[in-house]
Amino acid sequence: MAFDFDLFVIGAGSGGVRAARFAAGFGARVAVAESRYLGGTCVNVGCVPKKLMVYSAHLHEDLGLAASFGWQVEQARFDWATLIGNKDREIQRLNGIYRNLLVNSGVQLLEGHARLVDAHHVDVAGIRYSAEHILIAVGGWPQRPDIPGIEHATDSNQVFHLSEQPRRVLVVGGGYIAVEFASIFHGLGSQTSLLYRGDLFLRGFDQAVRLHLRDELSRKGIDLQFNSDIQRIERQADGSLLASLADGRQVSADCIFYATGRRPMLDNLGLEQVDVTLDERGFIQVNDRYETSTPSILAIGDVIGRVQLTPVALAEGMAVARRLFQAQSYRPVDYQLIPTAVFSLPNIGTVGLSEEQARAAGYSVKVFESRFRAMKLSLSDCQERTLMKLVVDAETDRVLGCHMVGAEAGEMLQGIAVALKAGATKQVFDETIGIHPTAAEEFVTMRTPL
Ligand code: FAD
Ligand code: NDP
Repeated sequence: MAFDFDLFVIGAGSGGVRAARFAAGFGARVAVAESRYLGGTCVNVGCVPKKLMVYSAHLHEDLGLAASFGWQVEQARFDWATLIGNKDREIQRLNGIYRNLLVNSGVQLLEGHARLVDAHHVDVAGIRYSAEHILIAVGGWPQRPDIPGIEHATDSNQVFHLSEQPRRVLVVGGGYIAVEFASIFHGLGSQTSLLYRGDLFLRGFDQAVRLHLRDELSRKGIDLQFNSDIQRIERQADGSLLASLADGRQVSADCIFYATGRRPMLDNLGLEQVDVTLDERGFIQVNDRYETSTPSILAIGDVIGRVQLTPVALAEGMAVARRLFQAQSYRPVDYQLIPTAVFSLPNIGTVGLSEEQARAAGYSVKVFESRFRAMKLSLSDCQERTLMKLVVDAETDRVLGCHMVGAEAGEMLQGIAVALKAGATKQVFDETIGIHPTAAEEFVTMRTPL
């Protein structure tokens, strides 16, 4: 049977664009359908605008340090509209780059919502296309608990477009987005509370990291409220919001920002037309080859609910393109030792096992820790402290995990991840000469286990 395309990609986000471009580069006839914005979540309402806002929040901290280095900065004033306007312009530029990347690599771009028709057909705006392979790369969508008044809350799709800076913000959740946006809002000058339903945020991260970040965020003045749950939200006559908490308290705010996880974006995708099994959490279930229960339909990225990070979606997209169209260059994605950063202020950077995970996996561990006040702060009265931690297998000396809370932790951990992928032992760390004076050199000078 002759198909219109060798590969039809649904979703021009991180994973979809990567798969489409590579497949076209390998000579395949490729189409990609996109219903909202080129570049997907990461470019439009995720990594990129978030990081730009983190930079702005961080600048505020640096302005606070400037005087200690002799700079008098008169009348620093933050303007929300300027930041949002400049951010929007940059994203428009990136949208254009994504369009060019696709078109120049020979991919046919279809701007519209795509629906599966059967194992080899997709409908976009009433036109039916056939393809040998269909790749679902539709990403995720913010999910919020169904409580009375939840329609008054803001989610991560909306937060990047608020017309005004909220004066008082309640951030709900304890994952990446909640912690990052608590830092952003606080850094930009909003009075910020973070409400998390459990004892301590960032479940799954190393305990020392979680405690350290808790202390640093509190020290900066973010109001952290653990074991807190909102039961209802009401709009007040003056336009502000009133949150009623499970413990009976009432808190008013100008913005209640929910960052309570993301669901797969399966709305109106036509899944009922095909045999595609979902897992128990509702994500699309795939095998090692990213095939769904219908092998001609594949899925990658956030919609499969493995690791919801852009570089992982990119790697999955590339793996699919290679396996289908350039088999000799195919390598499966290695899900071990994926480094990640939380762009809170200070950042978390982490790769490998937490101390708790290493112990639970049966390792006998040696732990090395360094806690210090960074040199950049030494002329000021800022008391922020940095944490660096290595989790080492006592038997083989291999470094199992590396964790940091401190300035530029994300930048630093990328290099450390290469060392861990290469199987570096603690001795290799010890034999590596430091770069002085940096904070990073602490990673190679920790001598005494805890
Ligand atoms: P997406 O990038 O979400 O792309 C899916 C695309 O499919 C979208 O463009 C959507 O419009 C389109 N689509 C959906 N349904 C259809 C349809 N039926 N027809 C046509 N098109 C459709 N990750 C990091 O690594 N680092 C970070 O710093 C980071 N920060 C983040 C901050 C926030 C606030 C959020 C929400 C996420 C962040 N992430 C970050 C996660 C990252 O954005 C995702 O892991 C990544 O975008 C997933 O890529 P994807 O290709 O699976 O889906
Ligand atoms: P996460 O899954 O990271 O965190 C969700 C948080 O919301 C958890 O603390 C969870 O609590 C809490 N929660 C879930 N349901 C409820 C509820 N009904 N009521 C109250 N709290 C609830 O999701 P995010 O939305 O923060 O981010 C989604 C994903 O996007 C991340 O997991 C990450 O993969 C990616 N991302 C990556 C970033 C980066 O690389 N820097 C930045 C932002 C996002 P509990 O722990 O108790 O379950």
